[in-house]
Amino acid sequence: MMTEQHIEFCQNENDFRIAFSSLIRNARKLFIVHGHQSYRSCGVKSLIDEVTSRLRMRFKEFEDFSENPKKEDVDTGVEVLLQNSPDMIVAAGGGSVMDMAKLIRYYACSKIPILAIPTTSGTGAESTQFAVCYIDGVKHSINDMSILPNHVILFPPFTYQNSRYLTACTGFDALAQAIESYWNINATEESDEYALRAIHQIYPVLGKEMLSADDRSRLMTGANDAGKAINITRTTVPHALSYTLTSKYGYPHGHAVALTFPYFLNYYLEGPESAYRGDDYEKYKAKMDLLRSILDVGSKPYSAMKEFICRLGLGFDPKRDFDDLTVAHGLNPERAGNTPLAIDDLIILSAVKSIREY
Ligand SMILES: [Zn+2]
Repeated sequence: MMTEQHIEFCQNENDFRIAFSSLIRNARKLFIVHGHQSYRSCGVKSLIDEVTSRLRMRFKEFEDFSENPKKEDVDTGVEVLLQNSPDMIVAAGGGSVMDMAKLIRYYACSKIPILAIPTTSGTGAESTQFAVCYIDGVKHSINDMSILPNHVILFPPFTYQNSRYLTACTGFDALAQAIESYWNINATEESDEYALRAIHQIYPVLGKEMLSADDRSRLMTGANDAGKAINITRTTVPHALSYTLTSKYGYPHGHAVALTFPYFLNYYLEGPESAYRGDDYEKYKAKMDLLRSILDVGSKPYSAMKEFICRLGLGFDPKRDFDDLTVAHGLNPERAGNTPLAIDDLIILSAVKSIREY
């Protein structure tokens, strides 16, 4: 069961000022974890500065880390946190910033509250109890109830400056998380509700040329719902296969997930009943039929999804070619274990090979 989390959705700057002030009002000192230039350009810095200076709130900032949190950087963060003894952590940024703030609190064995302010619509990390940490170059997933942020402020205008490519990567990650939660062997009624809500919010707007304010709101709330869905179920094979494509070949997370996604969408929609690993195939089949109709992929899920992904600019990039076996062997067995239909080495290798296909 998920620990209680308090989420505020703000429509305009004034809403944000009010929500932020009331959440930090009782703190004496903040520890603000944030990214680099995006922290300034997306507008969150000026609003935070304005409110903290009005409240004469003291704070210490921490931005000394790169994307995809490394344990060395987390250790530095823990040291800075302990030296400053703040009583609230504010995490303002994308998935890596959220993970960094969560990891710092976890490794500091601290119980001070985290206020998460996402500035991208992707990972939903503001609402999950896990965080990715690279220890000596190897990806570890920390999964602990205690790292779920206590408060979240969703303010879509922070994403208005996100580039098309960043929006595609983060938005597709959220969509994939929702879908992977929906077909997941661990799916529950609650996770399905979050997952379907996320798919309905994200899928119709993600491929648009121009995103309206309303579209950005849908992406942000959709990403948050997707986060809540995978907090219950975890992800499946497209995520399990993505980590090496990111750590070794440089594909951003959402792009890496997109690469094998059409293959697995096709497999889970069209795959044989004999491969089913759950205990209610009829229910699974009905869910997959619903998914097929929501995604409107008809009888050609593979090519329809491939086309959607290429339109988003998330297809194979010849400049980031890879070794098939290295990617296949990098499969995360824990995530792959959530697959609804059995997979074997041959399926994994064909999924990897499918990345170069058009
Ligand atoms: Zn993801």
